[in-house]
Amino acid sequence: MRFVRLTHAGTPHFAQLIDDARALLWTRAPWEGGDATEHVVPVTPSALLAPVTPSKIVCVGRNYRAHAKELGNEVPTEPLLFLKPPSALTGPGANIPLPAASARVEHEGELAVVIARTLTDATPEEALAAVFGYACSNDVTARDLQRKDVQFTRAKGFDGFCPVGPYLETEVSPDDLRLVVRVNGEVRQDGRTRDMVFPVGTLLAYISSVMTLLPGDLVLTGTPAGVGPLLAGDRVEVSIEGLGTLENVAVSRATPHSATSAS
Ligand code: ZN
Repeated sequence: MRFVRLTHAGTPHFAQLIDDARALLWTRAPWEGGDATEHVVPVTPSALLAPVTPSKIVCVGRNYRAHAKELGNEVPTEPLLFLKPPSALTGPGANIPLPAASARVEHEGELAVVIARTLTDATPEEALAAVFGYACSNDVTARDLQRKDVQFTRAKGFDGFCPVGPYLETEVSPDDLRLVVRVNGEVRQDGRTRDMVFPVGTLLAYISSVMTLLPGDLVLTGTPAGVGPLLAGDRVEVSIEGLGTLENVAVSRATPHSATSAS
């Protein structure tokens, strides 16, 4: 099943896709005990929001060897965790505001995981069984600020630095999915999730040994090689096999909202 979150009659709703053009509204998010209603609504790209409202966004750094290497970093011996604030979340079609504080903002296409059930000290098997679904995401990063600050908080935390979407897919295995990032149509990143240093179940189990993962929490699983700059006007697309394409446009922070913004 595919789930989206969309604005209908001025209100955000979770909804189950019927096809590309129609969705069935749900009472609440499926992981919050929601149920399907009988209300079918049209799906328009401009109505789509990020398909999740997490209590936290947990990210994993340097989880693909070639990417760790391209930035001159060692491959970590255990998962390298950091957080993005939920305020960074944005939806498909929304603009990514480029902050004035950074001269080098980069894309990081990543497989995103949404949690269905509370996880504390889980095994990898328990953790995988508690996944609700998967989506495309972009761990947008101010690379110059990341190098300058010891913490990743500022570099990863600007508003709009966490696009997710266009939908959550519940019936896909995360083990070996092709992930491609294009900027203005040109391929920048082309990797496979089988090349993760720590696979999804291991990551979730590790995270759950540090902090309880709650239903609806979002985990970004690291980016393959090929990260590069986003300039104002650039259109960035993250495509993952079976998960569609997440498209956003980078804009200067002075004009963070456009008529086509979905946020
Ligand atoms: Zn990342």
